Amino acid sequence: MRWVFVGASTIAAQYMIGAVRSQAGHDVSWIVSGSEARVGEWAKSHEIPDATTDLAKALADNDASAVYISSTNEKHHAQAMAAIEAGKHVLCEKPLAMSLRDAIEMTGAARNAGVVFATNHHLRCSGSHRKIRELIAQGRIGQVLSLRIFHAVHLPQHLQGWRINDASAGGGVIPDITVHDADVARFLLGEDPVDVVAQMATSGMGDGVEDSAMSAWMMPSGAMVMSHESFTHPFAGSGLEVHGSEGSIFARGVMTQEPLGEIEIVTAEGREPVLYSSHPLYEQGVADFVDAVAGQGRPAADGIDGIKSLAVAHAVREAAQSGTRVTIDYGGF
Ligand code: NDP
Repeated sequence: MRWVFVGASTIAAQYMIGAVRSQAGHDVSWIVSGSEARVGEWAKSHEIPDATTDLAKALADNDASAVYISSTNEKHHAQAMAAIEAGKHVLCEKPLAMSLRDAIEMTGAARNAGVVFATNHHLRCSGSHRKIRELIAQGRIGQVLSLRIFHAVHLPQHLQGWRINDASAGGGVIPDITVHDADVARFLLGEDPVDVVAQMATSGMGDGVEDSAMSAWMMPSGAMVMSHESFTHPFAGSGLEVHGSEGSIFARGVMTQEPLGEIEIVTAEGREPVLYSSHPLYEQGVADFVDAVAGQGRPAADGIDGIKSLAVAHAVREAAQSGTRVTIDYGGF
């Protein structure tokens, strides 16, 4: 399968070109960038045969059947709609769009066109998260009472552009990281948060957008979720804890782009380490997408997952702005 990459981005260069090339018979045919000055050189350095600033030109290539979108967030909607209209399967970066309405429109258009549409939520592709989900589903910790997610990191210098100073491009830690944590909570617990309370702050990096957020979410089962995201914490480390009536799961260093981290389960029998598959996260996500295109299963995170993670992130920001508890609007999903 040939792919069109839309967005000459860091994530494409660091992970996604390799993830596509790791699938037998797959390669990237096109890079589409908004920059005439960068696109040719970018294509050359990543050995991509065709480069353009004209999305329609790349989408007209009948040999390409999949599109991966990793432009800045405000561009996702129009680019995805064009790709879907051209009959391409689409793997789109999170957050799917700037508004819930746009995300719903993208997902609906793909359904009507009969193409696969997926959201690149990589964490649910990791062996660690899949193992934790399995332990919970097997009842190893009994009834889940609470989930704590620690996702306060230090945004590297080379990513300190639009993310920390451009609300119109979708900047801010909430659309960037809270949206991932929303997907993690939904994936692990198998239910969607009902309402949230939240605080947000700028703690040294954000310029016009928040760089830190803390929020508490209530699940339909009564389980509570505590979530912390930041761009400004160099030494905090990431992780999550799931606490149940019969045990607790402690996972350290698992909120990353690499298959890293340690998991322990603690029950009345004692404390034991948990082993898990260490496959690359983005390769797994592309593999699941490719299977879905072949009619085998569904993508790791589909459009509805992308809509729901966005809905939670929007509710967290609204709750922080208003200082009130916000009921999450999933737009009917
Ligand atoms: P980048 O800032 O690296 O790239 C975003 C856009 O900025 C590119 O499409 C490009 O525009 C432009 N750009 C990039 N580098 C330069 C440069 N050196 N000079 C001028 N312009 C440049 O963003 P990310 O790769 O970090 O993120 C892209 C998308 O992917 C976002 O939606 C983000 O939320 C998502 N993401 C998802 C991750 C995941 O794990 N699922 C992880 C990281 C990001 P153009 O294409 O027009 O040239």
